[in-house]
Amino acid sequence: MTAERIKAAPVDEHLAHTYHPLEVTLVSGDGAWVTDVRGRRYLDCLAAYSAVNFGHGHPSLLEAARQQLNRITLTSRAFHNDQLEPFAAALAQLAGKDMIIPMNTGAEAVETGIKVARAWGYRVKGVAAGRANIIVADGNFHGRTISIISFSSDEQARADFGPFTPGFRSVPYGNADALEAAIDANTVAVLIEPIQGEAGVVLPAPGYLAAIRKITFERNILMIADEIQSGLGRTGATFECDNSGVVPDLYLLGKALGGGIVPVSAVVGNRDVIGVLQPGEHGSTFGGNPLAAAVGHAVVDLLATGEFQERARSLGVHLRYSLDRLVGQGVVAIRSAGLWAGIDIDPHLATGRRVCELLMERGVLAKDTHGSTIRLAPPLVVTANDLDFAVEQLAAVLAQLRA
Ligand SMILES: *Cc1c(COP(=O)(O)O)cnc(C)c1O
Repeated sequence: MTAERIKAAPVDEHLAHTYHPLEVTLVSGDGAWVTDVRGRRYLDCLAAYSAVNFGHGHPSLLEAARQQLNRITLTSRAFHNDQLEPFAAALAQLAGKDMIIPMNTGAEAVETGIKVARAWGYRVKGVAAGRANIIVADGNFHGRTISIISFSSDEQARADFGPFTPGFRSVPYGNADALEAAIDANTVAVLIEPIQGEAGVVLPAPGYLAAIRKITFERNILMIADEIQSGLGRTGATFECDNSGVVPDLYLLGKALGGGIVPVSAVVGNRDVIGVLQPGEHGSTFGGNPLAAAVGHAVVDLLATGEFQERARSLGVHLRYSLDRLVGQGVVAIRSAGLWAGIDIDPHLATGRRVCELLMERGVLAKDTHGSTIRLAPPLVVTANDLDFAVEQLAAVLAQLRA
């Protein structure tokens, strides 16, 4: 590391050591590209874990934010604000549902979905008080709160954070029979990622989501799809569930819903489920604030055109075609959906972390998921040329490692 580099990327002395960032310090971004303190440009192939699906500084999102900044930004839910109901109506319509619960972060949407499912279980399904259980999948990632890590299978996420919240059962991902076998009379919901992103962009076999939908219908159980990372255009559809022709009872949304500007999350569903919550039972000081609602509404307007879903679909085919040529050249396997790819590097060659460091030196910012798997998830405004650049750099890194 050069002296100049050390100066450019100061050690984070006053930050808790909860992350291990690549040694690059970003100062600005435009579309799919970001610039560091030294003026070097990088193609952003992480897009803040899909929170920046529409690119850095998307004009209409910035405009919505600017206009709202000049009006009013926070009212609390003690009063109405003029932005929230129009946003809720637009998002519900986009999802083909009745109503939303606005929150801020993804983890809050997950927690909210769990509360809705439990309340629905007791009040509608008739489960005995305090006995509700929810089925989740091994390898899941749903966030970082105590209740959510309680049903994580990642020991690093759990160690020394117990005691844990009871009421969850984890079954192998992708196995509908195992899921069905875990159901009992107190099961109120299945909480599932349509694609497991943090696990390494793991796609279940075709028919899995449809099988869950069928089972949950038959057994009177809610299907909750955590589309926080997979939804809102990433996989070439508004929701990854769309690609399987499946409509869950609840969508959990976050990340891209805030347009990369403010945290915005939501639980989206129908009145017969979400309507179980009464005033005073749930809330959030910042949830549904007018700035978040204005930006979220602008995001929904972008998605309503279908343009981003179409870009993700067609560019995703292009990306996959170029990546497939790297299999056998240091790449062991590739899984992808739209503009979302999990790439398993030959573990003898390098860790995912090392590959990302070398990619960074070549102007591409990506992130490993774990082990030797890296993920590419560029903003959906990326061009075919940008994608070719990213794949060329990956090919060069692999050639370097194999030399
Ligand atoms: C990121 C993520 C979350 C948590 O979102 P936060 O905003 O970080 O709390 C939950 N579920 C999935 C699938 C995610 O990718």
